[in-house]
Amino acid sequence: MEKRDYYEVLGVQKDASAEDIKKAYRQLALKYHPDRNPGDKTAEEKFKEAAEAYEVLSDPQKRSRYDQFGHAGMSGNGFSDFGGMNMQDIFSHMGSIFEDLGIGGFSGFGGGFGGGRNRVQKGSNIRIKVKMTLEDIAKGVEKNIKVQKNIVCNECHGTGAKSADAIKTCPTCHGRGIVTRVQQSIFGQMQMQSECPNCHGTGKIITDKCSHCGGNGVVKGEDIINVKIPAGVSDGMQLSIRGKGNAIGGGEPGDLLVLVEEEKHSRFERDGNNIYEEFNISFPLAVLGGTVEIPLLEGKAKVKIAPGTQSSTLLRLNGKGLPDLRGYGQGDLIVNINVVVPKRITKEEKAMIEKMMESDTFKVEQPKQAGFFQKVRKFFE
Ligand SMILES: [Zn+2]
Ligand SMILES: [Zn+2]
Repeated sequence: MEKRDYYEVLGVQKDASAEDIKKAYRQLALKYHPDRNPGDKTAEEKFKEAAEAYEVLSDPQKRSRYDQFGHAGMSGNGFSDFGGMNMQDIFSHMGSIFEDLGIGGFSGFGGGFGGGRNRVQKGSNIRIKVKMTLEDIAKGVEKNIKVQKNIVCNECHGTGAKSADAIKTCPTCHGRGIVTRVQQSIFGQMQMQSECPNCHGTGKIITDKCSHCGGNGVVKGEDIINVKIPAGVSDGMQLSIRGKGNAIGGGEPGDLLVLVEEEKHSRFERDGNNIYEEFNISFPLAVLGGTVEIPLLEGKAKVKIAPGTQSSTLLRLNGKGLPDLRGYGQGDLIVNINVVVPKRITKEEKAMIEKMMESDTFKVEQPKQAGFFQKVRKFFE
């Protein structure tokens, strides 16, 4: 894309005064400020374009060179190409100019102007694992969990100072949390801002440290945290409990991250919100039919077995699976019925079964087509 004329960008005449240029730029910078146009790429481009134009036209030396040579005189002479910068670069580059114009930094960068300015610090997060059985998952759990962590020092209430008098405004940055340093460039002096190295951006220093915490504002301790895990969660899910992580002196505590670990069940297998179970019935029951009690995650269900039930028959018990985490109903329990063939029988039974074998009823035919997977697939249609 061809670069627009800088005067055109700012909407001023070629002979505009420094004051007019400043005014025009201020209006554009406010109009296209990223805080006012979050996520708007066009506004971001306009903002960059205006910043670049202003950087040149506000400097008499650069301006005269631009007047003589246009954009061609700019490239390769150390001029900033704002198009290639990200917004944070621009803000740290333009920091003092913005302050001068009364334009704020960009809040999206955690305090604007590349850090500093009494930035609020956050304590580190704590990760814990919570083991859950399928029964727990079916109902959801509430647990009180003891967590070892940094807690706020109750002597100094997190300030790290022996007394209120021991907290002084940082003499290096005069409480601003940022320092301005002047850098020489071929176009003259340029002001750069960075976090104050003396107070690390807090704007305060402590002359007399709290003896209980050694000035950290926090001490090792423990906390009992009430953790509520909703029904329907699954292995690997992570819940975040805001503000229950490690405390930090003069800042906000981190978060407690709770990782769900699903325990293997001896009887049930899970697939999403459905659960699977194997259930054995005897050979006579399969032939005659009857009622059985099938274990559920909670309690049992009376289920009718039809006469002539084959092995590997799948039964679906609607709504006896796990609840959906987002509240979209309830999964099913799917039961695989196995017909158990006895391995040992008495002499009398043997005689009885031998008698059965003579009957046409117990003659079997072979399947006419392959069909096991089709059967499984059909069941899930
Ligand atoms: Zn303390
Ligand atoms: Zn400081």
